[in-house]
Amino acid sequence: MANRANHLVLLGCGLLCAAASLCVRTIAAEGAAPGPAVSGATLQSPAPTANFPVASGARLAGDAKQTRFILDLDRTIQFRAFPLADPYRVVVDIPQINFQLAAGTGSAGRGLVKAFRYGLVMPGGSRIVFDLTGPAKIANSYVLEAANGQPPRLVLEFEEVDRTAFVQSLTPENRPELRPAIADANAAVASVEAAKPAQAPDSRPLIVLDPGHGGIDNGTQAAGEMEKNLVLGFGLALRDRIEKSGKYRVVMTRTDDTFIPLNDRVKVARNGSAALFVSIHADALPRREGDAQGATIYTLSDKASDAEAERLAETENKSDAIGGVNLTDEPTEVADILIDLAQRETKTFSNRFARLLMGEMKTTARMHKHPLKSAGFRVLKAPDVPSVLVELGYVSNKGDLEHLVSENWRTKTVGSMAQAIDAFFAKRLATAGAAK
Ligand SMILES: [Zn+2]
Repeated sequence: MANRANHLVLLGCGLLCAAASLCVRTIAAEGAAPGPAVSGATLQSPAPTANFPVASGARLAGDAKQTRFILDLDRTIQFRAFPLADPYRVVVDIPQINFQLAAGTGSAGRGLVKAFRYGLVMPGGSRIVFDLTGPAKIANSYVLEAANGQPPRLVLEFEEVDRTAFVQSLTPENRPELRPAIADANAAVASVEAAKPAQAPDSRPLIVLDPGHGGIDNGTQAAGEMEKNLVLGFGLALRDRIEKSGKYRVVMTRTDDTFIPLNDRVKVARNGSAALFVSIHADALPRREGDAQGATIYTLSDKASDAEAERLAETENKSDAIGGVNLTDEPTEVADILIDLAQRETKTFSNRFARLLMGEMKTTARMHKHPLKSAGFRVLKAPDVPSVLVELGYVSNKGDLEHLVSENWRTKTVGSMAQAIDAFFAKRLATAGAAK
């Protein structure tokens, strides 16, 4: 798709600095820095327990010309709201909120709002993302104090505009620095991790584990189980297992229920000069497309190996749109990387690891009938880090889901992945030793 101009505008500019500094203060106050918040034995990530503002209700009112969103709170909060184009969205950044909303809230739209999602995007910061039915402006946005028996409320009023008016409202002068807080927070994490070896020189290979999705982006889900939680539990268990050997350093792109943009995941691997990047996911097949089962291992390619691989890469690459990241903001280096000859070696290593992983995983896990595939996954695009993406199974398949929530299955599968990692580095270190 052609790159469009940066379609962004900030409404309520005065709130930006206030909101940003509020987030920083919240982080400091709660000490909610990223860390191993979930034990390897826990399948679910914990609910926020700190004294965050509580959202107890959310509703939409109005029609296709004017639509109003109301969020009931237990205290007033600061916020900033801005629209994003392609797809049309409105993003509201708020301090970390304890969302106590009824299941399914936001899945049904009304008027100008197709659907909305909410969740954590970083420690101290939550976000609401509205999918719009078409171009719309935020005609009004405000927070009301409690009054007349009503709790404090966040109110947004959307108004229909045409595409031209929408685009015209997004002048470059109005462009805010989008996701400054998210980018900074993740850069801070990456630099802290990257700085560690400098303090205590550590020549052990670095493995980056990347549990997919998180926070506002739930990933696939079935029978009340969300991909983001399943893959986090798996990733933490795998980390604990690999670290136990003492042979590797392990960094995770997330250790809690936080949204991490795809590019920032790649950056964690690149900044740390990782020797291996493993992204962990679980797939789902829409009911009308029948049933599929088993684990699949994906490597990067500019042309998908089959239609299903292409569909999956498209779905996984949507994570940033779901999380409210400005897609027009992404660097274009990615396209060039694919034709870079220097990437050939990385590709060879990625494919070698994928084959080793399949060989080990098939001894413990049920594999897809075509277990090795490739497609254009954005998260696999570090040009200098061997990278694979593992779909552990299908949450849409009853048998696979039973495995995914089983601690016994997880322990066995983590064991086979650790074996593959050992085999990969045994050969790699031997090769490197011979070359030097
Ligand atoms: Zn996924």
